[in-house]
Amino acid sequence: MKRPENIVVLGSGESGVGAALLARRLGMRVFVSDKGAIAPGFRQELASEGIAFEEKQHSFDRIAAADAVVKSPGIPNSLPMIRQLRERGIPVWGEMEFAWRFAGPCRMAAVTGSNGKTTTTELLHHLLRAAGMPVRMGGNVGHAFARLVADDWENGRQNDGERVFVLEISSFQLEDTETFRPDVAMLLNISPDHLDRYEYQMERYAAAKFRIAQNQQNGDLFLYNADNPATVAYLNAHPVGGPEVLGLHQPAPQNGLVEAAGHPFDLSATLLKGPHNAFNALFALTAALRLGAAAPPLQAAINSFRPPAHRMEPVGEVAGVQFINDSKATNVDSVFYALSAMTRPVVWIAGGQDKGNDYSVLLPLVSEKVKAIVCLGIDNTPLFKAFAHLGKEMVAVQSAEAAVREAAALAHPGEVVLLSPACASFDLFGNYMQRGDLFRQAVQHLTSSTKTSGNVTG
Ligand code: ADP
Repeated sequence: MKRPENIVVLGSGESGVGAALLARRLGMRVFVSDKGAIAPGFRQELASEGIAFEEKQHSFDRIAAADAVVKSPGIPNSLPMIRQLRERGIPVWGEMEFAWRFAGPCRMAAVTGSNGKTTTTELLHHLLRAAGMPVRMGGNVGHAFARLVADDWENGRQNDGERVFVLEISSFQLEDTETFRPDVAMLLNISPDHLDRYEYQMERYAAAKFRIAQNQQNGDLFLYNADNPATVAYLNAHPVGGPEVLGLHQPAPQNGLVEAAGHPFDLSATLLKGPHNAFNALFALTAALRLGAAAPPLQAAINSFRPPAHRMEPVGEVAGVQFINDSKATNVDSVFYALSAMTRPVVWIAGGQDKGNDYSVLLPLVSEKVKAIVCLGIDNTPLFKAFAHLGKEMVAVQSAEAAVREAAALAHPGEVVLLSPACASFDLFGNYMQRGDLFRQAVQHLTSSTKTSGNVTG
């Protein structure tokens, strides 16, 4: 199609503003429209760039005058306005697709999955940087891809084929890709999450995730989790043609070794704890080697990696009890991995906004590893329904501070308090980060009060 001159961007979060900036750098006319209020920082950014915008409304006639519409991933394709635009023959691209069309020559590694995306994306970025490559990271974490590309146009780097992007991509973002083609695509796992957007059909959720490989060709690599039933079932029914397809298996738990593309790596001195992180490391190492990183420096690089906060993050030890913040565990599968990684008795802090969770897969692990459950949510009935029959001690609280206080009282030296909620945080907190930060602060507070009183449980 002809290069669009007149772009409308729907949504004004990081991806919408990134897309607007890119359109600006490309010399296109651009208008941003948001149904809600625009956050002050983004409003200021648009204004300082001289980008026209509207908020709390969508002016359909103005939007329908666009040559192409770029939409933020939060806006579903089922929205009547999106359907009407398409009926009029106006292309509607996701922000990722728009950025890809104007990114210029570059190398691309893309990470998707239900769990582990941010950890794997950050790790791969860290490894490639350590290998001396001109790499940047973004997408669903940090800066929008469009913002990175806008930055390249501003600095005249848009034709530099040595550039490497490592992008985290959600299923929502993948839904709106058409030509996006990564050199290395990674599908970490598929487990029930966000099913509300897919009419509760796993098949449709899986299909969105597999779009990561849809345009890959000879010479590209598609890495998937060969131990994940939902991934394997979809792949068997819908084979991926084009790229080299490589299934990775969960590394054996013994001695912390993983073998990536024939090279052994030792994880025992790293901060990547638990079997899920060994798997994430295997994906990132395999991708790094494929993108041309030499193996020997990768061991030092992996040793110096600090996993992102709120994912199995040790936040302190008080009177012999270790506290772990896994606030990002917002679904059952990530809790499954968190509990699997536990080697000592656990006081488990769980709960929040339940997305219709099926907790039954956790029952054996909870029976075996959990000694008490602290339910942190406004409505804790789903947790009581799922676990009360196990006969563990269960208490209900409504603040991170109370959760830490109760958990500390229940735990004995040598045990672990694990915040791994299996639920979204929005009932009591602004987001999972605030939940994790308040948990960490409460632990720090406990540490200081223990130092003064010499008594953990008060
Ligand atoms: P995402 O970006 O996909 O949400 P994160 O790296 O932020 O993934 O991790 C989210 C949660 O999932 C954390 O609780 C983390 O401990 C857990 N997790 C990380 N990697 C995996 C994995 N490979 N499989 C299952 N759970 C994982």
